[in-house]
Amino acid sequence: MTIERLRGELLALQAAMKPLEPDTADRAALGQQALDHALAYLDAIPGAPANNDWSDVFARRLLPEFTATGRDASDIFDYIGRCVEKPGFATTSPRFMAYIPGGGLFHSAIGDFLAAVSNKYSGFASASPGAVRLENACIAWLAEVVGYPADAAGTLTSGGSLANLTAIVAARDARDPDGGGAIYRTRFAHYCVDKALHIAGRGSAPRRIVDTDDRYRMSAKALDVLLARDRADGVKPWLVVASAGTVDTGAIDPLDEIADVCARHGAWLHVDGAYGGLFSLCAEGKALLGGIERADSVALDPHKTLFLPYGTGAVLIRDRRHLIDSFSASADYIRPLGESDVGPSPSDLSPELTRHFRALRLWLPLQLAGIDAFRAAQTEKLKLARYFHARLSAIDGFEALLPQLSVVAFRYVPPGGEDSDAFNERLQGELLREGRVMFSGTRIDGRYYLRCAILSFRTHVEHVDEAVDALVRAVTARPDD
Ligand SMILES: *Cc1c(COP(=O)(O)O)cnc(C)c1O
Repeated sequence: MTIERLRGELLALQAAMKPLEPDTADRAALGQQALDHALAYLDAIPGAPANNDWSDVFARRLLPEFTATGRDASDIFDYIGRCVEKPGFATTSPRFMAYIPGGGLFHSAIGDFLAAVSNKYSGFASASPGAVRLENACIAWLAEVVGYPADAAGTLTSGGSLANLTAIVAARDARDPDGGGAIYRTRFAHYCVDKALHIAGRGSAPRRIVDTDDRYRMSAKALDVLLARDRADGVKPWLVVASAGTVDTGAIDPLDEIADVCARHGAWLHVDGAYGGLFSLCAEGKALLGGIERADSVALDPHKTLFLPYGTGAVLIRDRRHLIDSFSASADYIRPLGESDVGPSPSDLSPELTRHFRALRLWLPLQLAGIDAFRAAQTEKLKLARYFHARLSAIDGFEALLPQLSVVAFRYVPPGGEDSDAFNERLQGELLREGRVMFSGTRIDGRYYLRCAILSFRTHVEHVDEAVDALVRAVTARPDD
């Protein structure tokens, strides 16, 4: 009797949850609709602006946000197009040259789709040996790209910030478990490093700012002096954070010389290569990044320099033991499995347990497009930055810093003694409102600069020409007139 009633209730619930489980025909229809939507978005990218007005986000809100019985898919795709995909920065635009562009490879989107459909559990080798093997293959490849030994350990993170945090935790446990050790970096280190130090419980550790040379690179000599002085004063040099590509100017600290200094004084060398580290893949980049292979740890961002959609960073630790020491843990409900022949499990190498199967979005484009296409794209970006620099330098009034990677910091010096900082800040705002080409701005030692960061796989010479034209037009029109 009770069982019968319970069965009846269960069948009613099963019917009520039906929308969560579309059948074959419904899946095909929804999938086709989503694909059509995505293809239309992609087809519109070449002509679309790099920055869009956002009034629709607020004017066309869904009220209520969620309904009890769901909404029609076409209405929802339409909403996503107008109120999500369009407003704000178009990071997919070939004319998006602000911050560090990503672009978002289509192959990766397919990889994400497949990863979500099969929902393989990529935390443990025993749960999904195929997924974990593939992740380890990606890590091994990244290690090879930066010149690390084959037995280096690493993990795919959500981005560069978490990659830096993971490395800093490993460095803390390996070299400064009791605290008190000092940290060394230049004023151009990414602010996520300070955030990571704070999270890692080292927010109040002694911090030294190392001087830079005339191209904003860490002075190895100044570093050496600081480390020697600290040691003489009884302060332990713990962590040196060098940059392989700063955000402001793309500066690469002299990694080889810094590695010598760290070896001499027993400091852990961490390289923040979130922007620049993966340029090691192309010959030109590799030549610039010599010494990165000597770092104890490296943070990388495939969602920048390998053009992936946001959500993929990577951390590599030269001596695998340190990553395992910091992050492997177990619990009774999870049998300790040890390493299988597919290699270590990501859950033993990172703070995460259940996680997105990130490797597929990196592995799939490498499989389908091949490594040479990535190399060519990277070399093209480095050359485009030099091309932008050369074109701008040939125009009266523009001053551009020589790019070290694919970022060019530049400013216009208005004739007649007008305040340059105010002018350039206005110029950036003007271009942002126009929306066709997008640059970002920064201050370098107090002076306002615009930044042209070229890193989208979609950005080619025609787009750089258009960017230069937009600048010339804007300064000729004089933003304030
Ligand atoms: C982007 C960047 C970071 C932060 O990485 P996220 O992926 O944004 O978390 C850190 N350091 C440098 C040099 C960067 O360019």
